[in-house]
Amino acid sequence: MATPNSHGNGPAVTAASKALARLDLDGHDLPPSPAPSSPHAGRRRYALATELVYTETKDQYGSSSIPIYQSATFKQTSSSGGNEYDYTRSGNPTRTHLERHLAKIMNATRALAVGSGMGALDVITRLLRPGDEVITGDDLYGGTNRLLTYLKNNQGVVVHHVDTTNVDRVREVLSNKTAMVLLETPTNPLIKIVDIPAIARVSHEINSKALVIVDNTMLSPMLCNPLDLGADVVYESGTKYLSGHHDIMAGVIAVNDPELGDKMYFTINATGCGLSPNDSFLLMRGVKTLAIRMEKQQTNAQRIAEFLESHGFKVRYPGLKSHPQYDLHWSIARGAGAVLSFETGDVAVSERIVEAARLWGISVSFGCVNSLISMPCRMSHASIDAKTRQERQMPEDIIRLCVGIEDVDDLIDDLSRALIQAGAVALTLDGFHANDADVDGAVSSA
Ligand code: PLP
Repeated sequence: MATPNSHGNGPAVTAASKALARLDLDGHDLPPSPAPSSPHAGRRRYALATELVYTETKDQYGSSSIPIYQSATFKQTSSSGGNEYDYTRSGNPTRTHLERHLAKIMNATRALAVGSGMGALDVITRLLRPGDEVITGDDLYGGTNRLLTYLKNNQGVVVHHVDTTNVDRVREVLSNKTAMVLLETPTNPLIKIVDIPAIARVSHEINSKALVIVDNTMLSPMLCNPLDLGADVVYESGTKYLSGHHDIMAGVIAVNDPELGDKMYFTINATGCGLSPNDSFLLMRGVKTLAIRMEKQQTNAQRIAEFLESHGFKVRYPGLKSHPQYDLHWSIARGAGAVLSFETGDVAVSERIVEAARLWGISVSFGCVNSLISMPCRMSHASIDAKTRQERQMPEDIIRLCVGIEDVDDLIDDLSRALIQAGAVALTLDGFHANDADVDGAVSSA
């Protein structure tokens, strides 16, 4: 390494030599990218915002983004094959590039990319056999609930829905039959926090073969790495923050156990659900801007959560100190995310707010650059029947806000107008306040 040019031995020179000693001036210690193996392998890592955009390809023209290998087949060098790729269902260079990049940012040895988040869960749950038991939450994404119900009704899988925010409830149903413990945090739309490390610990203690699976869609690798918290498998809907523009459907799975990775790759190859080359390209492009999008989205979300709370609404958001599991959330995550929910106390009022909003698009999903508003009980969670929703204490009037990257004052203005038009707030000389409501959990005028 070059030594600093010094004409003296003063404190400034000593400080400079110390700073330079930390630098790998020759670049011998630079991490490869995409990482061929786990970032835990002792290599130096850049900060996540850097790793997200930093890629290398072996492209013959040095293209700065991976080309789309829009080809179903690849010619071979001999009658017995000989090339790395032969058929896109089994593997495609664009998908491989994406998968290596995802493995790097998800702190995994292997990542797999498939056609949707539900496709990812389908691949994972094909590891189950009849008689296996799955323990999962009582505030699950509706599609996850639907797939698990299908497995229960048709495949002989036993599914226990418990309050996974209480480790003891999970412990009570854990046994040697438990094959999977499936967690989401924050839950959606109730925004409850699940203690991933504690549940992983107790699950592995009681049954070392039980797989702890985490749906990390709500936080993304930008804010949480469940594999580092004791999970065995992490999956995400790439349709959300990872791609960020609601222009593709995608799902990703990440693991550290190579055997588990091989088993899931087998299913992907056997069923043909691997992500298409074109969508792999788009997901790769989206991932590069994850840090900047997520930072802006959660800054906006924090302002909006504070705005609603200050006007007397019951707001659920882990960025608010009033969140009952604030400390737990910040012990496992690096940010609060950009999804929040609030209650008005009246289903009709909630409907009017949603319909009066202009900037906020009425849409299921989240993680997009545009802000979205929805009533989960009517939309994303409608596949959970009304009785079950009631048992799980899901307020029918709950409104979910998925915050985008727009100017936050515009978003607040639009929401204020919708609240006033819907009659959700009472105008007074000193501003406006949430109206009294008479259902459980609702708010009264501030
Ligand atoms: N997990 C969560 C938390 C979701 O919200 C969703 C979709 O909304 C999914 C999984 C399923 O993802 P996809 O729609 O990409 O199949």
